[in-house]
Amino acid sequence: MEKLNELKQQLCDMGLQLLNTGLTYGTCGNISTRIPQQKKLIITPSGIPYPLVTPDDLVIVSFDNNPQGKQKPSLETPLHLAIYKKRDDLGAIIHTHSRYALAVSAVKIGVPVFIDEIFSHIGGDIAVVPYALPGSEELAENTIKKLEDKNAVLLRNHGAVCCGTNLQDAFQTAEAVETICHIYILSTILGDIKTLPDEGKEFQRALFDKKKFG
Ligand code: 13P
Ligand code: ZN
Repeated sequence: MEKLNELKQQLCDMGLQLLNTGLTYGTCGNISTRIPQQKKLIITPSGIPYPLVTPDDLVIVSFDNNPQGKQKPSLETPLHLAIYKKRDDLGAIIHTHSRYALAVSAVKIGVPVFIDEIFSHIGGDIAVVPYALPGSEELAENTIKKLEDKNAVLLRNHGAVCCGTNLQDAFQTAEAVETICHIYILSTILGDIKTLPDEGKEFQRALFDKKKFG
């Protein structure tokens, strides 16, 4: 019980952290965390501005999509569920509508491995998930296919999905996605992108694996 209340408070605090750092705005985006040792998640309610969300508004949803709470769970609950079911290593997911990520998602086919730190935060390139309606099972399926074993993807014309072992880790992924997308936009304005050579990719991916899997 104590742990559940702590997770709920962390989730409410994360909503404010996303607003304060400009990673989302209004009621865009959503946040979830896995309840340890249970096939359940806690997710933000649908359509309520982050400053108004209290721990009581959060919704617990079982992995067979049974919601428990007084509010409607986020529209993107199927997407969050699909990721947790596929990826045991992930404990938190943040969906943002941050501006640079959104700009890239509307134009590009993905962000290639063009700077070293894309590996340390994401584990490789940032793929763009083919368009599907918000909240649809199709969007959830498209997302897990493109996420593979990495920490983030962009949703075509929509935003970013950023994952981590816990909420602060997922937040760091969200910050990294936004920064990398910003640098990518600047780089494309400057000229032709030079991606990392294979030896650089292998070196960086090995560092990512070591950090993640020990
Ligand atoms: P919810 O308020 O239902 O979470 O929807 C926000 C969103 O970003 C949908 O993609
Ligand atoms: Zn969204």
